[in-house]
Amino acid sequence: MTSLNKLKKRARRRERKREHKRWVDRGWEDDHHILAKSRGGTKHPSNIIRMDRSRHEAFHFLFGNRTFLEAARVLVVLNDNHDQNLLSARR
Ligand SMILES: [Zn+2]
Repeated sequence: MTSLNKLKKRARRRERKREHKRWVDRGWEDDHHILAKSRGGTKHPSNIIRMDRSRHEAFHFLFGNRTFLEAARVLVVLNDNHDQNLLSARR
């Protein structure tokens, strides 16, 4: 590895540490796996999103190991069912 590449690598590592500190300072300290580890999700940064602890816990309490898209689908179905119940109650 050239010394320039080493310097770039060191700079990226320093920037990641600073970014991590900024997240922690904001209270966004949990790593959430977009695709859960139990479903084959990896530790790759493209599969990780930072969340504050209370929202992270609330998400898993409500949606288990679903992805954000699957959670959104659950909400759409619940909303459709709610609308149907309102319509049938009016008949
Ligand atoms: Zn999570």
